[in-house]
Amino acid sequence: MISYDLIVIGSGTAAQVAVAKVRAAGWSVAVIDHRPFGGTCALRGCDPKKMLVSGEEAIDAARRMAGHGVEGALAIDWPALMAFKRTFTDPIPAKQEHRYAELGVDAFQGLAHFVGPDTIEVDGRTLQARHVLIATGARPVPLGIPGEEQVSTSDDFLELDSLPRRIVLIGGGYVAAEFSHLAARAGAEVTILQRAPRLLPQFDPDLVGWLMPRFYELGIAVETGATVTRVERGQGGLLVHASRPGAPDLSVAADLVVHAAGRGPDLETLDLAAGEVAVQDGRLQLDDHLRSLSNPRVFAAGDAAGGGPPLTPVSSHDAKVVAANLLDGASHRPDYRGVPSVVFTVPPITAVGLSEAEARRRGLVFRINAASTPDWFTARRLAERVYGHKVLIEEHSDLVLGAHLVGPGADEVINLFGLAIRHGLTAADLRSTMFAYPTGASDVGYML
Ligand SMILES: Cc1cc2nc3c(=O)[nH]c(=O)nc-3n(C[C@H](O)[C@H](O)[C@H](O)COP(=O)(O)OP(=O)(O)OC[C@H]3O[C@@H](n4cnc5c(N)ncnc54)[C@H](O)[C@@H]3O)c2cc1C
Repeated sequence: MISYDLIVIGSGTAAQVAVAKVRAAGWSVAVIDHRPFGGTCALRGCDPKKMLVSGEEAIDAARRMAGHGVEGALAIDWPALMAFKRTFTDPIPAKQEHRYAELGVDAFQGLAHFVGPDTIEVDGRTLQARHVLIATGARPVPLGIPGEEQVSTSDDFLELDSLPRRIVLIGGGYVAAEFSHLAARAGAEVTILQRAPRLLPQFDPDLVGWLMPRFYELGIAVETGATVTRVERGQGGLLVHASRPGAPDLSVAADLVVHAAGRGPDLETLDLAAGEVAVQDGRLQLDDHLRSLSNPRVFAAGDAAGGGPPLTPVSSHDAKVVAANLLDGASHRPDYRGVPSVVFTVPPITAVGLSEAEARRRGLVFRINAASTPDWFTARRLAERVYGHKVLIEEHSDLVLGAHLVGPGADEVINLFGLAIRHGLTAADLRSTMFAYPTGASDVGYML
């Protein structure tokens, strides 16, 4: 049996950060993944998605500028765009393996599971660990409907060699919003079936409202209050059935149905009971230091830990906290203040800090600066009709409580508000900052 100071299960962002830090301190480390090394963000999430978004950004820019000095129609060549994406994703697993070899980290390919509180089995081998880090990420939550096996995942969507003509997205969060824009701009007929009363429930309702015309212009059919009950394969493809309270049931024909209805910690395969690692309702039971409440050898980070929002920067942050706890024995805690979220529709919609509803629930005293501003220069020069903001500022402290942006550049500018929230900058601090002009950031002063 081989023994390690640390065994990391998973090879995504959380794993990579933890491995590098702990190995640099001289610990012996093993990393395990049953899929190609690199994890979700780099191979099946953020990065490949955004490579594809680059294609639709180009299309959208040309369409917006049509009649304003730009002529000629552009179209997405899906296989070529996919090939562009693969120039980024294909080399990653080999690069990761190379890196592990350079670092002196043992990398195992296979499904890992606990066989004891300090013992992991992978590919028929038994490994012993002083500590284990569960960094197994997330997986789509089961839909629990007949025909679920016909439903593709976001992984499948991001590997499509050709674009199906009719696509149904189940769910109405950021994956549905992003994929619908992408597929519609690439020429597919897209339907979103969302159970909740509106799309993007995690984002500000006013800003989502300002963005919705972009969905309709693209011909995306958005059905809210629609609960998918069944998917069946018929002669002409797939048929997705949904029920709607107070309205007739819906049936939508599709060539591809994609699960975009949320993800949860991927813990199924770990045999946590054998590792004496407590779980409840599908979530690891962790203390404030990301350590298992039942097995002190075991820590978790990222989507698997589920402490912060399931985003890449959070996985990285968790891993730094765990590495610090492992290395200096101190009790570091994660700090999830000021984590920006971006939906990469075109244009993007973003949020950081408190929503208006949450600030009210907490009884805070704050002022709101909110406006739809397509007449501002940033939007005008791009011929973009969607541009707006909502910023919450606490009255007595002048601190930024939350910021919500939609429109061109929102995905970059939101980081400035994240900086302010995380580091306690006031609205006056931001107002007195000099931003390069004309940039999206130079609008910040007018949003406060
Ligand atoms: C379509 C999509 C788009 C996204 N876009 C964004 C975005 O734009 N911005 C953003 O911040 N976040 C985005 N995310 C979320 C982001 O990708 C995740 O938050 C992040 O990758 C999680 O990293 P992680 O290290 O926690 O886990 P992961 O990167 O998911 O790594 C977990 C690894 O563990 C492996 N594993 C699981 N179980 C076992 C086992 N038993 N044995 C061995 N290996 C195992 C898995 O194969 C996987 O490779 C997106 C996610 C998806 C799905």
